[in-house]
Amino acid sequence: MAYQAVDFIDESRIWSLLEAGRRASRQQVEAIIEKAGLCKGLSPEEVAVLIQVEDEELLEKMYATAREIKEAIYGKRMVFFAPLYISNHCVNSCAYCGYHAANRDMPRRKLSLEEIEAEVRALLRMGHKRIALETGEHPTECPLDYVLEAMQTIYSVREANSNIRRINVNIAATGVEDYRRLKEAGIGTYILFQETYHHDTYARLHPRGPKSDYLWHLTAMDRAMQGGIDDVGIGVLYGLFDFRFEVVATLLHAEHLEEVFGVGPHTISFPRLRPAEGVSLDSYPHLVSDRDFRKIIAVMRLAVPYTGMILSTREAPGYRDELMALGISQISAGSCTGVGGYQARMCGEEENSSTAQFEVADERTPEELIRNLCVAGYLPSWCTACYRSGRTGDRFMALAKTGNIANVCQPNAILTFKEYLEDYASPETREVGEQAIRAQLAAIRSEKARAVTLERLARIEAGERDLYL
Ligand code: SF4
Ligand code: SF4
Repeated sequence: MAYQAVDFIDESRIWSLLEAGRRASRQQVEAIIEKAGLCKGLSPEEVAVLIQVEDEELLEKMYATAREIKEAIYGKRMVFFAPLYISNHCVNSCAYCGYHAANRDMPRRKLSLEEIEAEVRALLRMGHKRIALETGEHPTECPLDYVLEAMQTIYSVREANSNIRRINVNIAATGVEDYRRLKEAGIGTYILFQETYHHDTYARLHPRGPKSDYLWHLTAMDRAMQGGIDDVGIGVLYGLFDFRFEVVATLLHAEHLEEVFGVGPHTISFPRLRPAEGVSLDSYPHLVSDRDFRKIIAVMRLAVPYTGMILSTREAPGYRDELMALGISQISAGSCTGVGGYQARMCGEEENSSTAQFEVADERTPEELIRNLCVAGYLPSWCTACYRSGRTGDRFMALAKTGNIANVCQPNAILTFKEYLEDYASPETREVGEQAIRAQLAAIRSEKARAVTLERLARIEAGERDLYL
């Protein structure tokens, strides 16, 4: 495909959409919310209206519709993953990140393949099957060859009945050939956040290093798709610039990918600026309040009903639960945001918080979180079935948009949860979990899928693993 990288973030268009959106009448807002309820998604124009709603009654309507969409498409399943930081060497200068090159107080560390293996074993013992591999950007300390070797190591580790089944990778923007190599190595989703779509803010917060090139960073997903990766994950670091601008810009990014490559982002992540070693929040005038963050999550759920929405442990427990109901479909659990943190935790050592990228607000162990989720009516899931059945990119979206994805998500969530209960859960968690499975079986819409699920549950009890639809 002859393709020319273009800057598709037209700021004057975003500002005029926001200007027009501010003038929308109550009736117009209600009509957009009603349209969103049909699960067909929203345009940037419509998003520019909703993201500026301040009226409490209208906000409540938006939240109610977001909850309905979440329930209709995703049911009660909540997919779990954990980040795995393998190197914090970085040549970039992102002002909001503790790993920035000028932070001389940050101890730098890069894991050996043996250390990576130990981290993976610790993650497997927590029940994890999906990880997000994270690194800083460094041409010699963390070249692509190291990342590929790390992936090979991670996929090769077997711990009792378990192994990592999907590695999503969050590394710096690179070229088409490198993306092709990541694809060959078995990448799940390629994740890269634009951080801020606002050009001047981007330039100010990324003064040095390869990441200072806005266009190179912005068009990374285009190159990833050209390299054959069809699941990509985008995101903004909320708090760097006006969230209204960022939300509309995110929609423009999704629209661009859909127009050029025929498939929008597989996931959108919602990190919010948090304190980090060597980073003060005083100089950030656009920090997002809990109220506005709630609105962001709900509006995005209405705008892109079929896109996975990811929340990290940056958010505090009670509030995190609220955001899940509004649209989040994936969460991280038991996260260490430092290099080598899981193994240290397993060994009962203090995790080295000084190597953490940001502070974690939800420190519940995966087991505590799982019990809480079950009690709240959710279904924890470690499912990786789509990726392993070749249901990625447009094939995934085709299934998702017909509404049939729930017929595989719900059974797969139940089967992976059963594996977790068999292999890792304490008796207390197992009791709560088995009750949840009984309740969630009834929510499988197709009789045939329910029968298959029951048959496979019995096989898992008998010792088989990795069964999926
Ligand atoms: Fe480096 Fe990423 Fe941190 Fe920027 S955000 S300093 S690229 S680790
Ligand atoms: Fe995700 Fe596919 Fe599993 Fe559903 S069935 S949870 S969409 S991998």
